[in-house]
Amino acid sequence: MAAVDDILTDLPATMAWQELYRDLHRHPELSLQETRTNRIIADRIAHWGYDVREVGGGVVGVLRNGDGPCVLFRADTDALPVQEDTGLAYASTVDGVMHACGHDLHVTWGLGAAQLLASHQRAWSGTYVALFQPAEETAQGARAMVDDGLVDRVPRPDVALGQHVMPTRAGLVSAAAGPRLSAADSLRVTVHGKGSHGSMPHLGVDPVVVAAAIVLRLQTVVAREIAPADFGVVTVGSIQAGAKSNVIPDRAVLLLNVRSYDESVRERILAAIERIVRGECEAGGCPQPPEIDYYDQFPLTVNDKAVTEAVTGAFVEHFGAERVAELAPLTGSEDFSVVPDAFGVPYSYWTIGGFPADADPIPNHNPRFAPVLDPTLRTGTEAALVAVLAHLRTEA
Ligand code: ZN
Ligand code: ZN
Repeated sequence: MAAVDDILTDLPATMAWQELYRDLHRHPELSLQETRTNRIIADRIAHWGYDVREVGGGVVGVLRNGDGPCVLFRADTDALPVQEDTGLAYASTVDGVMHACGHDLHVTWGLGAAQLLASHQRAWSGTYVALFQPAEETAQGARAMVDDGLVDRVPRPDVALGQHVMPTRAGLVSAAAGPRLSAADSLRVTVHGKGSHGSMPHLGVDPVVVAAAIVLRLQTVVAREIAPADFGVVTVGSIQAGAKSNVIPDRAVLLLNVRSYDESVRERILAAIERIVRGECEAGGCPQPPEIDYYDQFPLTVNDKAVTEAVTGAFVEHFGAERVAELAPLTGSEDFSVVPDAFGVPYSYWTIGGFPADADPIPNHNPRFAPVLDPTLRTGTEAALVAVLAHLRTEA
């Protein structure tokens, strides 16, 4: 695509962006606390001529450049409560907080694409919406932006796009249509027992035993209730009760995580969990019913066929077929689709590799997660630009 090549000849010698990336990496901010990051983003895109607005704890820049389609590109901005252990010269300076999911790369890519589109406005026409979303890790950010009136405060896009760094080979771009990221639900289950002396179990109701029965019985949900060909995960990630060997506590709290790829499977899993939890509490003689609270809920990410074909075709043309892979369905989840779903527009979400091909991959959220900057900074910026330009009006 001539427009892409034209613009990319101007891809700044990556030093400036490496500095920006290192600065973001040194200063990670937890979900819904992305103040410094937001200021850096807003200052830069305003300087490049974007109409900037703060929406729901995030930043949106709008660049109107004549007639043509409207394209939204989203980058998430938050870090994680992880103590960094990379030993990098630009490691986090914030105790217990780290960009362990690579959202600092996402910000850098998003800013890189925004800068290049602003400085080459003769190469394209239409409207570009650069959206920087907070709090992806807690599944709150996209919802917060929508709840703050995003749909009425920015132009309605024709298409929404986004991308994530993954522990695949650096330089590789992976995309595919259809469901690609799972739906996720977290549940907090509180089992109510009756406290007693450890020597007098007959005078209490032991919530530890009830919780143990729940944990074991939950293992049958996927194994015995979901069809073998369907995808489902039920994990009990936390179980907490009591503090002393001779005290039977009065409650136990379980934290569950559920993944699914199909709404009917999801409903079936959640109904089974509720039934088992209530049934075991009943069987254990709990003095009151359990409480089941849902949190950190991520929707299914289903890439639109036409949008993804356009994106993938542009990737193959730009990067060459050997650098474009088919994205297999991931067990991870994203709140990216909340924004396009609020507008009612199609979307595509793909991944960018960030690690040497021969290295043992270190997954996202690991304290040693450290993508290689060359060529990952460049690949992500190019991919964003190529996919966006595939949907804007350009002189072919
Ligand atoms: Zn993450
Ligand atoms: Zn992430």
